[in-house]
Amino acid sequence: MEQFTGQSILNFIKELPDDDACKAYLAKIKWQDGFTCMKCGHTKGCEKSGYKYQCYGCQHVESSTANTLFHKVKFGLQKAFCVVFEMSTSSKSVSSIQMGKRFDIRQGTAWYFMQKVRNAMKSSQNYPLSELIHVDEFTVGGKEQGKQGRSYDSKKKKAVIAVELSKKQQVKRVYVRSIDDYSAKSLTPIFEEHISTTAQIVTDKWRGYEPLKKRYNIEQKFSDNGKNFKELHIIIMQLKSWLRAIPTHVTKWHIQAYFDEFCFRINRSQFKQSIFHKTIERMVIAKPIYHKDIKQTLSV
Ligand SMILES: [Zn+2]
Repeated sequence: MEQFTGQSILNFIKELPDDDACKAYLAKIKWQDGFTCMKCGHTKGCEKSGYKYQCYGCQHVESSTANTLFHKVKFGLQKAFCVVFEMSTSSKSVSSIQMGKRFDIRQGTAWYFMQKVRNAMKSSQNYPLSELIHVDEFTVGGKEQGKQGRSYDSKKKKAVIAVELSKKQQVKRVYVRSIDDYSAKSLTPIFEEHISTTAQIVTDKWRGYEPLKKRYNIEQKFSDNGKNFKELHIIIMQLKSWLRAIPTHVTKWHIQAYFDEFCFRINRSQFKQSIFHKTIERMVIAKPIYHKDIKQTLSV
C-alpha cells in the first residue's frame, strides 16, 4: 500500500491488519529518501527482517519506530495507529477515557500517547494566514457568562484566535494560542507565527493591538457584541463545546496541545482523504517525546 486514504474504518482495518503492517507503513515513510543512520549518520546499510535497517558504518540496527513519536509504544503499533486514525479522521475525536476503552489501553497511557499525536498536529508555521483575518481574544474554563469581551477571571484560561476568511466570508483556516494576559507582548506571537505582514487584519478596539499596527495592516472595529466577528465567534463556540466534552480539568500547561489538535482538524477539513497519512508522516519526522517532556497532571 502506498498511503492510506479516506475515512473508512473497514478499509483501515483491512489495509493495516496488524503491528507488522504498521511497521512496514512507517518504514516506507521513514526511509523513502534512503537510509541515514541515527547513530553515526552513515547512509549505507541493508534492510533486515522486521522492517529494520542495519548500518554498514556502525552496525547499529534501527527499527522503523526508532526516533519517531511511535518510539517505545508499549500497547502495540496497530492500536497506536487506531488512536491516530480516530483523532485525525473523526470530526471531534474522543476523550482518553473513551479511547482507552475502545482500544483496551489504560486511560493514562492513552492520554500520554494522545499528547504526542497533538504535538505532531502543531502548526509548521510555514503557511501564514494571508487574506482577510479576524483576530479576537476569549477565555475557556471557569464559569461561562453570556457577555463578550476580555475576562480577568483568574480561573479562566485566556487565548487569542486568528481566523482567515474567504471572500464569501467562509472560514478557511484557524489558529489559536494560549496567552497569559491581553498585553501587546502576549498578543504578538500569534501574529509573528501565523499571520503574514501583508494580510488584511481586523481586531476589536482593544489597545493591546495598537503597537502591532507598525508592522501589520490592522483595522480596529467595535465588536458590537461579536456581530462584527460572527464567523470567528462560531469557531470559538465550537472550540468551547469541544473542550467541555473533555471530562476533567485541562491545565493551562496542556491547553495549547488541545488548541493545536482543534485547529489541525479545521485547517485540514478539505483534505480529509489524506489527513491520516499526513498525521503519521508528521509523527515519523517529529523527534521522540519522553515522559519528562509531558507533565502528566490532572489532564484527560
Ligand atoms: Zn551507523
